[in-house]
Amino acid sequence: MITPQPSVATVWDRPGGGGREVPFGSNSMQHGTAVFEGIRCYRTPEGPALFRLDDHLHRLLGSAHLLGMPHQYDLTRLRAHVLGVAAAAPADCYLRPVLFAPAPRLGVDLSAMFFELATEVWPMLPLGAPSGTGLRVTVSRWRRPSAKSFPTRAKATGTYASSAVARTEAGAAGFDDAIQLDPDSGRVSEATVTNVFGVRDGRLFTPWLQDGPLEGITRASVLALAQELGIPATAGPVDVEDLRTADELFLTGTASELARVIAVDDRRLDSSGPVFDAIHSAFQAAVSGRRYSRFGWLTPVPLPVPQ
Ligand code: PMP
Repeated sequence: MITPQPSVATVWDRPGGGGREVPFGSNSMQHGTAVFEGIRCYRTPEGPALFRLDDHLHRLLGSAHLLGMPHQYDLTRLRAHVLGVAAAAPADCYLRPVLFAPAPRLGVDLSAMFFELATEVWPMLPLGAPSGTGLRVTVSRWRRPSAKSFPTRAKATGTYASSAVARTEAGAAGFDDAIQLDPDSGRVSEATVTNVFGVRDGRLFTPWLQDGPLEGITRASVLALAQELGIPATAGPVDVEDLRTADELFLTGTASELARVIAVDDRRLDSSGPVFDAIHSAFQAAVSGRRYSRFGWLTPVPLPVPQ
């Protein structure tokens, strides 16, 4: 799990933007009407670099489009903003660009609002070598939002209220996180802020997108690295029983990176797992620029402009 640390800056794209303050009546604050990304910056031998920057920014634009949010951003402008923020941020950090409506406006017609961009900066160190421990998860009674009620491919702040109830209840029952099911199929979708992977007989599996998980960028990276390592991997239907009979389980996400799972409810898993270890070290090598540079996953952060 990530150790929470205070954020160190809020950087608005608008010159003279609102500093660290957002009006209390902001529509995004009142109704969860904002879309966002989480992007990691890692130290590499060539200097700090952002991991899969354009993939994150494409997803941000896609999220805004799915919700019908008026804004003035394209990929080039988003990239310039995030690189500028990263240039002034700690080398190892987590950046959270958010497109939101700061104006105190009533109503939920997003076409009547204007969405602005600001980025929050958290210092965050890479997780390092896999530890001998892991997470204990429970299968939550709270299912993910249905794709029939919301465009679940959008990474929207409001949907995290669903993650929050599942995570909070899991915590109260003594677990570290919750696995949530797709409400329509009843199969495994994802964890509250991460994707889920299992290993059985040396083969990696993860829920397919039909069951509503976010199309995680770490998930895609793990699938690519598995192929690289010759580990057979499939995205397909995953039942709770598949989790309970897996040899290894782990969660993936930008902030959490790769986190081993050592128990699902009352079923304990071995806290050593060769597939997790192999993928974890390949992932570490990729994010730190030591290997896999041909994938083009790292965007160098420009040096800060001297004042
Ligand atoms: N699912 C949910 C619900 C998430 O919030 C996240 C974090 N963005 C993920 C999965 C993992 O996605 P990514 O690897 O792109 O961070």
